[in-house]
Amino acid sequence: MTLYIVFAIAIVLVIIVIKLPGNKKIIPEQTIPEIDIKKILTAQVLFFNKLNQADQEIFIARVLYFLATTKISPEKGAIITDEHRVLVAASATIPLFHFDQWSYENLDEVIIYPDYFNEKFDVSEKKRSILGMVGDGAMHRKMILSLPALLEGYSRYATSNTAIHEFVHLIDKADGAIDGVPEYLIPKELVQPWLQEMHETIQEIHKNKSDIRDYAATNEAEFLAVVSEYFFQKPKMLQEDHPELFSLLNEIYGKHL
Ligand SMILES: [Zn+2]
Repeated sequence: MTLYIVFAIAIVLVIIVIKLPGNKKIIPEQTIPEIDIKKILTAQVLFFNKLNQADQEIFIARVLYFLATTKISPEKGAIITDEHRVLVAASATIPLFHFDQWSYENLDEVIIYPDYFNEKFDVSEKKRSILGMVGDGAMHRKMILSLPALLEGYSRYATSNTAIHEFVHLIDKADGAIDGVPEYLIPKELVQPWLQEMHETIQEIHKNKSDIRDYAATNEAEFLAVVSEYFFQKPKMLQEDHPELFSLLNEIYGKHL
């Protein structure tokens, strides 16, 4: 009898492990009912609405997995709801959606601040311009997002998306260097063409000859993060205005379109 129970438990465990897209530890208290997740995604996330039904199911499973394995913690007086949690998880899911094997192995916690912040992590001083960041040092394996920036990314006509931007930095960081070359995603033969396209476009931005946000010209890492925002928020616009850039990003993100 006991042996049967052991077997039954073993089978259930195997099924759970196989069904999950990664192997991270489960945080039981963070679950949100699937039906609520679907409602929030349908109401707010254009990327989700464009998927067919089967892909929507996969998307929801990944949101659930992210929520079950990544702490989302309000700090400095922020108040967060299930909707905010789902939007964080959606932002994590979007850039890696076309890869079967995925999970953010370099992230344990997303901290939500009530507003923009500064280098001292202050949310009340006058000068504050940081919308989100991927932590380093003591903040290693943590990401900070300001709540208004998270929500702004999912407002109707947004071309930017802070949360997606920060998750792209994490993807870039996974190979050890935040350098604008996401080595786990980019096919080897495209590294050179990507670097060339990146440097040419950065030059154009410097000469005011590009409609891409100036911030993309800060360095290679910011370039990848900013153009990825465009790619996921306004793919058609990027394809029309920057076909080369679009087709390289399309290869990097696993033939998104
Ligand atoms: Zn950045």
